[in-house]
Amino acid sequence: MAAGRIPKVFDPNLLTLEYRNTLINRFNVRSDEIGDCKIWRGAHNSSGYPQAKIRDPITGNLRVMSVHRVLYSILSGNDLGRHNYQVSHLCHTKSCLTFRHLIFEPAAINTQRNECKGAGQCGGHGNDNPDCIFPNT
Ligand SMILES: [Zn+2]
Ligand SMILES: [Zn+2]
Repeated sequence: MAAGRIPKVFDPNLLTLEYRNTLINRFNVRSDEIGDCKIWRGAHNSSGYPQAKIRDPITGNLRVMSVHRVLYSILSGNDLGRHNYQVSHLCHTKSCLTFRHLIFEPAAINTQRNECKGAGQCGGHGNDNPDCIFPNT
C-alpha cells in the first residue's frame, strides 16, 4: 500500500453542517432498531463492519468507510486519527449504530471486549473505561 496516499485522519469538523446532517439522516434511514441496537442494513466489509461511500473531508473524494466510525466521529466531534485507537462496540454488535453503544478507545481494550463477548459477561476494563453492554440478555 502506498504510504500516505489515503489520509488516516477523519476530522468531522471539516465537513459542512449540511453534509453531516445528510450522512446522519442516511444512516438513520438505512438502519433498523432491534432491541437497543440500531442495525445497519447497507453494505458490510469482510470483517462484518458497516460500510458506505463517504466524501472524504480532506481530499473531497468519495471513499468507502466504516459507518460506525464516521457516525461516532460526527456525533462526538472527534478526529479519529489517533494511532491505536478504535471505535469499539460496547454491545459487541458490529452492525450497531447506536451512539451510546460506541466508544473511542485503545485497540487493546477493544480486544479485551472480545473476551467479554466470549465469556457472555463483562470482566471490567479499568476505572476510565465503561463496561460492555449485553443488550439482549
Ligand atoms: Zn448496539
Ligand atoms: Zn467487557
